Amino acid sequence: MRRYSAFAVAREATRYHQGWARAWRSPEPKKKYDVIIVGAGGHGLATAFYLGRNFGITNVAILEKGWLGGGNTGRNTTIIRSNYLQDPSAAIYEKSRSLYETMSQDLNYNVMYSPRGVLMLAQTEAEVRGYKRTAHANALQGVDTEFVSPERVKQLVPIISLDGPRYPVLGGLWQARAGTGRHDAVAWGYARACSDMGMDIIQQCEVTGIRQDGGKVVGVDTTKGAIDCDKLGVVVAGHSGVLAEMAGFRLPIESVALQALVSEPIKPCMDIVVMANTVHGYMSQSDKGEMVIGGGADGYNNYTQRGSFHHIEETVRALVETFPMISRLKMLRQWGGIVDMTGDRSPILSKTPVENVFFNCGWGTGGFKATPGSGWGFAELVAKGYSPLCEAFGLDRFREGRFVDESVAAGVAH
Ligand SMILES: Cc1cc2nc3c(=O)[nH]c(=O)nc-3n(C[C@H](O)[C@H](O)[C@H](O)COP(=O)(O)OP(=O)(O)OC[C@H]3O[C@@H](n4cnc5c(N)ncnc54)[C@H](O)[C@@H]3O)c2cc1C
Repeated sequence: MRRYSAFAVAREATRYHQGWARAWRSPEPKKKYDVIIVGAGGHGLATAFYLGRNFGITNVAILEKGWLGGGNTGRNTTIIRSNYLQDPSAAIYEKSRSLYETMSQDLNYNVMYSPRGVLMLAQTEAEVRGYKRTAHANALQGVDTEFVSPERVKQLVPIISLDGPRYPVLGGLWQARAGTGRHDAVAWGYARACSDMGMDIIQQCEVTGIRQDGGKVVGVDTTKGAIDCDKLGVVVAGHSGVLAEMAGFRLPIESVALQALVSEPIKPCMDIVVMANTVHGYMSQSDKGEMVIGGGADGYNNYTQRGSFHHIEETVRALVETFPMISRLKMLRQWGGIVDMTGDRSPILSKTPVENVFFNCGWGTGGFKATPGSGWGFAELVAKGYSPLCEAFGLDRFREGRFVDESVAAGVAH
């Protein structure tokens, strides 16, 4: 694979960009692979990448029923942060955030990581206490966050109204090294690197069955025929329950629609990400100038990949309260994705009742930020059968009551 560089861009500019090679191959499936990953979202592709990079396992196929990155990976609002409360969460999200810092160089692909800072507003006394507690926990975990005053909030985001009609701003949890990244580029960068290692990314190939022999996986049935494998990693977000049913067990997961919207582009007015969890809305400004807006998930299970109208209204109302100036903006687009929610709002990175079948899911409304860390840990789990990063996120925690409760950090969509 030829490396991307400033020189290559200049060279191609002189010949109408005719010389670029395809970023990844589109091969037909082989009969057998050492590892099959189901789902070519960011997490599936990152898993494959670290299987190759960290463990030398490259006889890998990544099977995708649609197009790569077309699931939640291409539908999220790209917020990256690691200010979680519990130690196992801080470990995996901070690992992830640190991998984002060098991802463009590691993948030779510009993922536009922008550590512009994320501010979570405290608008009730309970939130003030909760975020102060998180800041203390983060200090012990080596995650750099601080609780800031309303005056500092106004300095960081001048367009905010501190005296909202219902909830005044009482402070905020500020993580200066958090930010955003280009979601498609994360998927495309991993895909290009995986293909370059000889892995097969097979799009338009839906897994329809999981074949077993004596309680052990032997392969999958797909819309492109049967494919054998020694190990199977299932990384399908909102469709995890469907795949678990194929394997013959149930997951403690609910699939619900989560949606986002963007405004018309305007001049730069906000250079950080702001989340207002009490009124339930969050916002950042894209490089194109659009305000990127998200809110809460639908309150009922579905697989529709589009959101409901009342959520748009509630989210915009919440943000107009916090940023009155956006009341004059026109909204351009709205879309949805199906997110996979666990009861404790923490992911599942786990072995399963079927030998050599592993599941990576349950990232709910906030898994984009975890993409590289999740891939790093899950690859280790698939390759070695154990990963310190994944240890607390096994399925057995639901049976044993060892929840990793992140309802404060992940209670709002992001
Ligand atoms: C509107 C919205 C906003 C969000 N905002 C943020 C945010 O700001 N920050 C953040 O950290 N997270 C956010 N998230 C969550 C984040 O997008 C997800 O947690 C993350 O992208 C999940 O990645 P994934 O690779 O696990 O899943 P996906 O990207 O959904 O990939 C799973 C893939 O599996 C494929 N698949 C499913 N079934 C099969 C099958 N049978 N055979 C083959 N392939 C199959 C799907 O087609 C899909 O491509 C948001 C989500 C949404 C919907």
